[in-house]
Amino acid sequence: MKRKSPYKTTVNPTLVCVILLAMPVRSLAPSYTPHQAQLSRLTDNARVRTALDWFTPNISWINDQQARLTEIPAPPFREAQRAGAVKELLAEAGLAVNTDKTGNVIAELPGANEKEIVIVAAHLDTVFPAGTDVRVRREGSRMTAPGISDNGAGIAALLALARAVQFARVKPQRTILFAGDLGEEGEGNLRGMRALVDAYRSKLKAVVVLDGSATDHVTTKALASRRLEALITGPGGHSWSDFGMPNPINALVRGSVRFINTKVPPNPRTTFNIGQIEGGTSVNSVPYEARLKVDIRSESEEELTRLDSALRESIAAGVRDEMDSARDRSKGKLEWKVELLGSRPGGELAPDSPLLAALRAADEMVGNQSRIERSSTDANIPLSLGIDAISIGAGGSGGGAHSLQEWYDSAGREAGLKRALLTVLGISGVTEEKSR
Ligand SMILES: [Zn+2]
Repeated sequence: MKRKSPYKTTVNPTLVCVILLAMPVRSLAPSYTPHQAQLSRLTDNARVRTALDWFTPNISWINDQQARLTEIPAPPFREAQRAGAVKELLAEAGLAVNTDKTGNVIAELPGANEKEIVIVAAHLDTVFPAGTDVRVRREGSRMTAPGISDNGAGIAALLALARAVQFARVKPQRTILFAGDLGEEGEGNLRGMRALVDAYRSKLKAVVVLDGSATDHVTTKALASRRLEALITGPGGHSWSDFGMPNPINALVRGSVRFINTKVPPNPRTTFNIGQIEGGTSVNSVPYEARLKVDIRSESEEELTRLDSALRESIAAGVRDEMDSARDRSKGKLEWKVELLGSRPGGELAPDSPLLAALRAADEMVGNQSRIERSSTDANIPLSLGIDAISIGAGGSGGGAHSLQEWYDSAGREAGLKRALLTVLGISGVTEEKSR
């Protein structure tokens, strides 16, 4: 889509520059005032209003980009093609864009104060393996495809925000970085966000994560989690002639049953999930290895450690049980190990943080109410380091995340886009130019 200048072309541009330079530029510092005051100061700014008005006439463009980008596969560790497409779109918006060592795409909107940075991020990766049919089916405002909402919705919103502020020539106080980041899902272990926070840490004042659909929540509490892999190995052999040899799958099953019987408290909420199990090569072979992957989460770091130990003890006991019941121990023994695949640290945003105030002001502006949530998102990394961060949905509605039936409905997505933009500008601040 071609961008139109918001300024009349009949005006001599040099003259405009001279006038603008001569005008006093008042700054709207990131606000600590009550919501209402913060809100009216933002929306008094003509350029902010122009940016807010950009969304409604451009909804079909936003929907189309979401569908197009969702159809570019982005399995874990293979996000480069989608990252390239997002980079192009951010560059088209007129922003300077670069790709960092990790593969994150970062577009910069320089602020009046370049020593302070606000990051707006949407993860580019999906949970779906290569070869998944990611074609988008569209019926009216509803789109169905794996990854369409998580995080097609977030990526589309990231692009829409970048376009809107560029179109309206919003000049923020703090520099805003629009980032498409990698490795949010699963074994990606938040590597994209880790790299971003690492690179900008000394200047970083806030992170706003756009993840999935909806406007009903704000994640301010980072849920701690660990991902573990158990591996059991043995000599392996023939199902008939080597019968009686200890079997790694048997041991894994024995250990798994013990593990899933582990008691977890409802409060602090603690969960576990065996998400993957594999091993063996054929039905008539004693397998030489078996492995399983487990995700454990808790509101308490202590419970997490307890579950981590429970898994190790269960696997050890499973191996012991299998060895004890093996009919022929002369045919070798089993080895086992449990490895940490990833760990997401916990953390919490202070209830009186300016970032939460900015979000609340934005909620009031769009007539929205949202509840505080605890979840595991890209915001875990900044929150664990004491940097203000939230994760919010990008508007519209959706469901079936991480399933092949995932859907997104763009009806009403404007409210989510405005909410996100007002939050970002609320925390970055904007320079006020009396162009009205
Ligand atoms: Zn997500």
